[in-house]
Amino acid sequence: MSGTDAFLTRLRAFAQGSVAAAAPRWSLGDAPDPALYREAADIGLLGTTVPATHGGQAHDFATLVAACQTLAAVDFGFAMSLVNTHNVGLRLCLSAGDALRDRYLPQILKGEISACTALTEPGAGTDFAAITTQAVETETGWRLNGGKRWIINGRHAGAAMVFAQCKSMGDASGIAGFFVDLSLPGARRFAIESGFSQSSMGTGGFELTDVEVGAECLLLPPGTAFKAILTEINAARTYVAAMCDAMLGAAIDEAAAYGAQRMSFGQTLDQHPSWRQPLGAAQADLAASTALTAQAVARITEGADAQLTAAQAKITAVETAQRHLPALLHAMGAAGLEPERCFTRHLAAAQIAGLTDGATSILRDRVARLTQARNVKDRR
Ligand SMILES: Cc1cc2nc3c(=O)[nH]c(=O)nc-3n(C[C@H](O)[C@H](O)[C@H](O)COP(=O)(O)OP(=O)(O)OC[C@H]3O[C@@H](n4cnc5c(N)ncnc54)[C@H](O)[C@@H]3O)c2cc1C
Repeated sequence: MSGTDAFLTRLRAFAQGSVAAAAPRWSLGDAPDPALYREAADIGLLGTTVPATHGGQAHDFATLVAACQTLAAVDFGFAMSLVNTHNVGLRLCLSAGDALRDRYLPQILKGEISACTALTEPGAGTDFAAITTQAVETETGWRLNGGKRWIINGRHAGAAMVFAQCKSMGDASGIAGFFVDLSLPGARRFAIESGFSQSSMGTGGFELTDVEVGAECLLLPPGTAFKAILTEINAARTYVAAMCDAMLGAAIDEAAAYGAQRMSFGQTLDQHPSWRQPLGAAQADLAASTALTAQAVARITEGADAQLTAAQAKITAVETAQRHLPALLHAMGAAGLEPERCFTRHLAAAQIAGLTDGATSILRDRVARLTQARNVKDRR
C-alpha cells in the first residue's frame, strides 16, 4: 500500500469511527472533543500538504481534497475546521521566517492549537477590499485594531492569519496578511451560535485592541496579500466543491440503504418507481458535478490557472447539493430528521458552502466575466 493509500485508509477509519460517533451531538450544538483534533493530527491530516522537511506529510493537493471529502461525507464543519488549521500551517512554511515557523508549526501539526484565516468583518464580507481592521507600523513591528467575524475556528483558534489595511481604507493594495497569536493581550475571541450547526466548524470571531505583533509576523506584505488570496482561494473553492459532492454522495447512499429496507404498502420503498426518482436525479447531477470538480483538482495539482474551473466547479457542486439534499431528506420521511442521519447536517452545510470562499452570486459574475474575456481573446 502506498503512503497516500495508507493515509487515506486511516483517515476513513477515523471519519467513519470517532467522527461519525460524535457528529450527531455536534448537530445539536455540542463542541468537538479536543482529543479528536489530536487524533486527526496523529494521522497526519494537519500536515497533509506541508513539506516533509517541516514535519508534514508532503501529499499533493488531490490527496488533500480526498481527505476533505472523506471527512465531509460525515461532517462538513469538522472537515472545514481541520483544513483551515492545515492551511495556516502551510502558510507558515511558505512565508514565515524560521523562528516564527518553528514556534507555531509544531503546535498546529500536533493538533495542540487550531488556526484560522480571517478576512470577513462586521462591515465587509463580499467586498473584501473594504475591510477596516487596521495595522500601523511601530518601532518593533505592527499594532492591530479591528474585528473579524464569521470565521471558521474563530471561537477557539490559537493563531490567525489576519488581513488588515496598512494604508488608506478601500485600497486593496494596502491590505497585508499578519500571523497573530490570539492569546496576546488585546485579543478577545467569541463564538457565533446559530441553528445551522456551527459548533464543529468552530464558527466565531475576535476583536483586536492594540494588539502588538513583531515585524516577523507580517507574512504577506501590502501589494502581495490581495493577489495571494485571489490565487489560493481557487484551491479552497475546489475542495469545498469536492466536499459538497461528498455530502450529496453520502446522502444518496444513506437514502438508498434506507429505501432498501423500509416497508410501505407491502414493498420496500425502493420498489416504488416514483420513490426512486429523486435518487436517480441526484445521482445524474452528482456525476456531472464530480467530473467538473475533478477538472479543477487536476488544474490546481498541475499548477495551471484554475480561476474559471474552480469557480464553475464550486457553483455547480454547491447548487447540485442544495437542489437535491431537500428531496433526499423528503424521501427519508420523518427519519431523515434524526440527528444520527446526515441529511439535516449536510443540508445546513450546503447552504454555508454557498457563502464561504466566494458566495455563489459573486462566482457566477466571475464566471461570466472570465468567459467573456476568454471569448474576446479567442476572437482576436
Ligand atoms: C459558517 C461560515 C463560515 C465562514 N468562515 C469564514 C472564514 O473562515 N474566514 C473568512 O474570512 N470568512 C468566512 N466566512 C464569511 C464568508 O466569506 C462571507 O459570509 C461571504 O464572503 C459573504 O459575505 P457576507 O456574509 O458579509 O455577505 P454580504 O457581502 O453582505 O452579501 C450579502 C449577499 O449579497 C450578495 N452580494 C454581495 N455583493 C454582491 C454583488 N456585488 N452582486 C451580487 N450579489 C452580491 C452576496 O453574495 C450575499 O449573498 C464564513 C461565513 C460563514 C457563513
